[in-house]
Amino acid sequence: MRVLLAEDDDLLGAGIRVGLGQQGFLVDWVRDGFAASCELQTGIYQAMILDLGLPRQDGMDVLRQARAYKIKTPILVLTARDAVNARVAGLDAGADDYIVKPVDLYELAARLRALIRRAHHQVEPVLHIGRIGIDPAAHRVFVDGQVIDLAAREYDLLHALMLNAGRVLNRTQLEQHLYSWGEEISSNAIEVHIHHLRRKLPPKTIETVRGVGYLMPKRAASSLSYEAAS
Ligand code: CA
Repeated sequence: MRVLLAEDDDLLGAGIRVGLGQQGFLVDWVRDGFAASCELQTGIYQAMILDLGLPRQDGMDVLRQARAYKIKTPILVLTARDAVNARVAGLDAGADDYIVKPVDLYELAARLRALIRRAHHQVEPVLHIGRIGIDPAAHRVFVDGQVIDLAAREYDLLHALMLNAGRVLNRTQLEQHLYSWGEEISSNAIEVHIHHLRRKLPPKTIETVRGVGYLMPKRAASSLSYEAAS
């Protein structure tokens, strides 16, 4: 899950990046509102964490502009504990949720997971497709209710395909899910991860759409995987 963090406080920004990183998030961090607006428009983020007091462009402005441009990315605002007015204004301007400082990193991660779930019209915390279940909070994957062992990138890849089940994702889109800014990506990285992933999953879980990308077909969750995993 790749998220955009807009925070000008170095200590808080670094803390959030490390804390969310440990909980399986990929965090790109910008320190001013103008950069936040630019990055948000790329559309590659599953959610955004937005401090309201930012240099160059105010957080409220970033928020209003994003919604005026019909950007649907879930946005969670960071506010001071006593700033009730700012929270109300933020929610009314199009924020989806807020968290007060000092930030509890476990609460922040849980709120982000909930926002991302809702953005994908998913109600259950564990997502099931066919024989496969994925639990983002525990960072675990099940096949027929049995936990399987995946490398971090394999997990991220599978999660992206499951969240977008029924839609083809091309290589660039998948890379955007897996890699943060400045990370070295070899040209066949996605193919290699897909290859490893397929060996660990039931046959035909991931389909190749030749010349386009990869797809996880939508399938009803089997009752077996559902019961065992929940
Ligand atoms: Ca600030």
